[in-house]
Amino acid sequence: MNNPAHGSTHENFPTRARVVVIGGGVGGASTFFHLTTHGWNDVVLIERDEWASGTTWHSAGQVTQFGTVQTMVGLKKYLCELYTKLAADPDRPITYRSHDGGIRLGYDRQDLDGYSHFVGMAKGMGVDFEVIGPSDMAEAHPLLDVTNLTCGLWDPVDGDIDPTGLVVALVHAGRKNGGQAFRFTDCEGLTETADGWIVHTNQGDIECESIVNAAGYRVHQVANFYNLESAVSSMEHQYFLTEELPELAELGRRVPLLRDPGDDFYSRQEHHGLLVGIYEQGCKTWGRDAIPVDFANKLEPADLDRLEDNMMRVFDRLPILQTAGISSVVNGPITYSGDGTPLVGRLPGRRNAYCMLGLRAGVGEGGGLGKVLAEIIVDGQSEWDTWVLDPRRFTQYADEAYTSKKAIEEYQREFVFDHPDEHRPAGRGAKTTPLTEVLAAAGAEFGVINGWERSLYFHRAENDFEHVPAFRFSTFHDQVGRETQAVRSNVGVAEISGFTRFLVQGPDAVAWFDGLTAGRIPAVGRTSLAYVSDEQGRFLSEFTMTRLTENSFWLLSAAAAEWHDLDVLNDANPPNGVTITNLTHDHNALMVAGPNARRVLAAITDAALDNASFPWLATRSIEVAGHEVVALRVSFTGELGWELHMPMAASIPVYKAIHAAGADLGIINFGLLATESMRLEKNYPGWKSDLHTEFTVLEAGLDRFVNLDKQFQGRDAIVAQRDAGHRRVFVAMEIDNTTAAAHTGDPIYSGGELVGVVTSGAYGHHTGTNIAMGYVDPSVAAPGTELSLEVIGDRCAATVRARPMFDAEHERPRVDAS
Ligand SMILES: Cc1cc2nc3c(=O)[nH]c(=O)nc-3n(C[C@H](O)[C@H](O)[C@H](O)COP(=O)(O)OP(=O)(O)OC[C@H]3O[C@@H](n4cnc5c(N)ncnc54)[C@H](O)[C@@H]3O)c2cc1C
Repeated sequence: MNNPAHGSTHENFPTRARVVVIGGGVGGASTFFHLTTHGWNDVVLIERDEWASGTTWHSAGQVTQFGTVQTMVGLKKYLCELYTKLAADPDRPITYRSHDGGIRLGYDRQDLDGYSHFVGMAKGMGVDFEVIGPSDMAEAHPLLDVTNLTCGLWDPVDGDIDPTGLVVALVHAGRKNGGQAFRFTDCEGLTETADGWIVHTNQGDIECESIVNAAGYRVHQVANFYNLESAVSSMEHQYFLTEELPELAELGRRVPLLRDPGDDFYSRQEHHGLLVGIYEQGCKTWGRDAIPVDFANKLEPADLDRLEDNMMRVFDRLPILQTAGISSVVNGPITYSGDGTPLVGRLPGRRNAYCMLGLRAGVGEGGGLGKVLAEIIVDGQSEWDTWVLDPRRFTQYADEAYTSKKAIEEYQREFVFDHPDEHRPAGRGAKTTPLTEVLAAAGAEFGVINGWERSLYFHRAENDFEHVPAFRFSTFHDQVGRETQAVRSNVGVAEISGFTRFLVQGPDAVAWFDGLTAGRIPAVGRTSLAYVSDEQGRFLSEFTMTRLTENSFWLLSAAAAEWHDLDVLNDANPPNGVTITNLTHDHNALMVAGPNARRVLAAITDAALDNASFPWLATRSIEVAGHEVVALRVSFTGELGWELHMPMAASIPVYKAIHAAGADLGIINFGLLATESMRLEKNYPGWKSDLHTEFTVLEAGLDRFVNLDKQFQGRDAIVAQRDAGHRRVFVAMEIDNTTAAAHTGDPIYSGGELVGVVTSGAYGHHTGTNIAMGYVDPSVAAPGTELSLEVIGDRCAATVRARPMFDAEHERPRVDAS
């Protein structure tokens, strides 16, 4: 073969392919290899320079199974096994030390709780972590000063791999399976065609069905070719290597890896020295303006001054460093997404276009991310639900400026895990409504969903109150309880900012929906829940479907779902004449709920609100405080209530009118956490917590919304799954735990046997029950079955309860005017 590095061309360069993967770092190479394992051999990998010449070649190469959610743990367990196999190939052995073990250092009870939760969560994926104490840590790592450490998370399969060797091995394995891979092949442009893409390269054009952007820190250069911004930004990152340390040589064994959320460093053994990487607080973004064309296989100059603050603290933790000589420093770019988790999956609004971007720990994740992406490309979904990785979890707000702020925040907190209900400060206020300031003045503590600020709960400003998220019941537990009780006994109002909202209209809309959604299409003026599955019966979307007129509908769904659900609708090929208009950003919604909701609403509208005029699940256009609103008689809280949907501009006057009307009754503001408590009391499943791609609508217990007498997308697969026997079924449990709610991922046991996983947990403040919901083996799903749950390290009893646990006859939301 000619050497195209010198300007000549590749022989036999393909002109057609099924998939072209752009970028030969660990992300691209892994995607390439995994596509070929599905028997797709007409796959082409192109790399503009040498293999691994972007970030991958200078990675510290550390590989841990640690992840904060099950999908990440599962894919990391998988990749450790893959790397072991690749490393053992006698043709191309790779240095992979997979059993040095690793310790994540812990300082306080918060860390202990978090690590205990992660140990339990990982068990569901077959991974055994362990929480160890300071003396175990000191014994495992004699150079570590354990002063003020209280615990550590131990991963026995922690280690490191030669990153360039890994990429070369993946390319080699993909070629062996029939794929083609080319170095020095620069993607210089992309053209979208009717049935795919043309990839323009310096070696010629390739027509293909699908493309994958795996261009690492050159993400935006490639993304410009398809005119879509990705929430990815780059940071500079440094590690140094010490000279040989006699103490390590004398030890006669290797020391484990360390990751320290307090002093923001990691360390591992390299020969008889240490490799130490630092995430300095005074960190630096990289490549925001431009990236030199020839920046390949290159580093930035070392800048140890920037690390000074951390260095002092790191030297205290590893005192041997105080006298160790530094032999070399590596300073290179590393990519971060807007929430620190990679973007792996479909590009929003594009068919046959995928990405593998924002890899901050790509060597330790790439092997598994490639498996996941290949499954998505070949089969539409991965073995595990991948919402946590889905590029569509970000929408248009996540531009370069936003992502840079988040990248800095992620970098500064590299090893610090998030607690439940923790919403970090950078990039806040991306999406607000006219009410945001009004609610803030009323004491709202906000969280973020898809950029939208959403009230979590309210506290009085004058209180000396601190929001401390925790794995145990937290500082806001009692306040959430007060809001819950007030709604259940009286009345409250909550803003539902960012409700995803599509207006779908056209003469064939009804027939189209009928073939897409599992249930019956509501009559004009009625609302129903509509569930969409893919052709394999896997759960995709939940819509509140409101029929405004004969041929026009509102589809409402979770605030996080906007771009995901738009793809779900467009993928279903709306017929000619059916249009989809995204109204998400033009409208707002207020929920008025509680036994006194009718009295409040009646005071500000002339519309009749009794059951005959405005029954449960009806929709009416009514006037409130001089504004036209669409009122839906639905209630996620399980109480009498209405959702009022209105143009953004009406938010403040309608909200004020509600408060004025409810003042004498003592109306309160309530937030998302009280709603969550009431949702759990009613055992309503939530999108992407309880309802996701690993299960069918029937396994989720949504039978009453499924009409098997008609044909709809995924119907036959759902029936086949049912006939073969459900893998798991959705249950509600009451748990015996007075200190913490259950968390997503907590393992469920029957005796000593692992039988399921928690998908939602919250304290039911009205019923006084600690509630968990999740999926269990069908053999233990009957109400009354005694199970147990592991919650932050403690086993507690759990009893399966009949659903719904509260107001079983649904009398409260359907109560008539008295
Ligand atoms: C100092 C340092 C230490 C690190 N240590 C670790 C660690 O211990 N463990 C860990 O897991 N991770 C670590 N990382 C992070 C890890 O290295 C990266 O997450 C990973 O290498 C990213 O891989 P990638 O494939 O996404 O990107 P890259 O490796 O950058 O690959 C992208 C490739 O795309 C090519 N490309 C770009 N544009 C085009 C185009 N137009 N046409 C064709 N090809 C193109 C580039 O040339 C490049 O080779 C470290 C990073 C740094 C900087």
